[in-house]
Amino acid sequence: MLQQNERTTLAPPPPLDVRRHALFLDLDGTLVDFAVNPEQVVASEELRLLLATLSREMTGAVALITGRTIASADAVLAGALVHIAGIHGVERRTGETIERSIGDDARIKAALEEARALTAKGALQVDVEDKGLALALHYRRAPEFADVARRAAADIAQRHGLSILEGKMVIELTLGQRSKADAVLDFMAAPPFASRKPVAVGDDVTDEDAFRAVAALGGQSILVGAPRDTAAAYRLPDTRAVFAWLKAGLAS
Ligand SMILES: [Mg+2]
Repeated sequence: MLQQNERTTLAPPPPLDVRRHALFLDLDGTLVDFAVNPEQVVASEELRLLLATLSREMTGAVALITGRTIASADAVLAGALVHIAGIHGVERRTGETIERSIGDDARIKAALEEARALTAKGALQVDVEDKGLALALHYRRAPEFADVARRAAADIAQRHGLSILEGKMVIELTLGQRSKADAVLDFMAAPPFASRKPVAVGDDVTDEDAFRAVAALGGQSILVGAPRDTAAAYRLPDTRAVFAWLKAGLAS
């Protein structure tokens, strides 16, 4: 009971320390608000400038860890950040190179075709996103069909030996080898992150993997949004509050 109370009264985070912290930021729902179509999301110039300046002041120790592909995250941030882990840690960019932890997999392609066939005949009301090394079923445009989407995703995943990753208004089918925790650990294993204390900021269930990894490394995490069961110690209510917290850290 006491723990539940503690969860619902998570404090605002202490100030960001640009000299000592390494920042791991989620994108959608954390830095930018959701849109009905993820492709319509674009960061404001103010946000892009803030992230680029933070990255410079923190000697590059700022990474985006997102479920989007790196290409899709770049489209939102217009290149404001170099360090990006995409598809929940499956791909990772450090400097000019992009590492991918897995190769093309026929199971993803088969699942993609199946999901598209179901939507084409009206049996599934989702936007199917091809991420290459994963696929996502977005039901934001028809949330009343969430359960139908969930059942179809479970069915497709089982047939093709894929894993399910649930997020806000999205169900992803993945090869299951990676999580946002792996992305945090990979970045923290090398400069400019290695000598710093990790701080993760995120809104979704998939961010909990990053929160636990950061806690194991002696860092701290910030949940964005309404209180819920979380591994984070701190909370900010929305993307605007995240922006203000980052900006205050830069000014101090
Ligand atoms: Mg998010």
